[in-house]
Amino acid sequence: MTNSGGFEPPHAKEAAPSQQIYDMIIVGGGPGGYTAALYAARAGLDAVVLEQLAPGGQLALTERVDNYPGFDEGIDGCELGERMRRGARRFGVKTRMAQVRALALSGAVKRVDTGEGTLLGRTVVLATGAVPRELGIAGEQELTGQGVHYCAACDGMFYRGKTAAVVGGGNSAAEDALLLSRICRRVILIHRRDTLRAEQVYRAPLMEADNVQFCWNCQVTELLRGEGLRGVRLRDVKTGAVRTADCDGVFVSIGRKPASQLARGQLRLDPAGYILADESTRTDIPGVFAVGDVRTKALRQIVTAAADGAFAVHFAQEYLSQGGRPV
Ligand code: NAP
Repeated sequence: MTNSGGFEPPHAKEAAPSQQIYDMIIVGGGPGGYTAALYAARAGLDAVVLEQLAPGGQLALTERVDNYPGFDEGIDGCELGERMRRGARRFGVKTRMAQVRALALSGAVKRVDTGEGTLLGRTVVLATGAVPRELGIAGEQELTGQGVHYCAACDGMFYRGKTAAVVGGGNSAAEDALLLSRICRRVILIHRRDTLRAEQVYRAPLMEADNVQFCWNCQVTELLRGEGLRGVRLRDVKTGAVRTADCDGVFVSIGRKPASQLARGQLRLDPAGYILADESTRTDIPGVFAVGDVRTKALRQIVTAAADGAFAVHFAQEYLSQGGRPV
């Protein structure tokens, strides 16, 4: 595949006449993004990956990955992300560290505006993943990083020998609580119901940990400040009773929301903000694909994000071979 493609950029005034047109611009460097990059490079497409932070996306925040096949003893999330990146680079994929500010997705040549300039591509793969959901209570943003955290694998060490609370009842909350139980003196798991949604593999050891205490049917209504955080106020959702729990830090682990704001107003999203795309990863704009956690899907896992990356390239090749023009 060549880069010129013979297409006129849609905003020719802003784009330099000789500016490179990539076959594929991949926005996001998680498992979906780097799998797309690997498949694209092996298919002979000229692809670039745009990343904001370290490789791996959310994966880089995961202490240990045990459910990605091929690693019989599990693997550190950061290392898996880095290996995915290196695997794609082996076939010539370029990575650029750049914050994407805006997208212009209609037209045969798509524009990606970044803090480092504008890129043009004949196809775009959105692999922007998801970001942690917030509690949405007063003081949360000011205390972020200073008592309120969203990643136990990243920030848990600040609470060595201290008391940490974890909010949530899913796999992430259980995984975070388990990790913190090995670091902290005491862990308080706060969940709005009386049963965990987390799978048995996390639930069982958590129930056995002698320094983990559970606050069932509770919601955090207030962050109590001292020098940083000194505790949380809880409301029992069944009785309405209010009490406080002393803790030095709180880890919010109540799920994620899609990082789809760049696509808003251009691509169809579902009511929760996920980009509408099926297993083909095709969005409603030809030549634009959504992979991984940012798209509508039943199971958001590393393995399903990676599979999406392969599908995106398969259908991008089909699109390009048919002329790569929007219908
Ligand atoms: P999740 O499964 O959606 O769980 C979110 C939890 O937060 C639920 O327990 C939910 O309560 C609670 N919650 C949601 N909004 C809340 C609010 N406003 N206030 C208080 N609590 C709230 O999210 P996740 O645990 O982040 O997991 C996301 C996905 O990643 C899942 O598919 C999960 O299986 C996967 N994951 C997999 C692994 C693994 O397999 N190794 C590890 C981590 C995550 P309710 O239960 O009442 O709804």
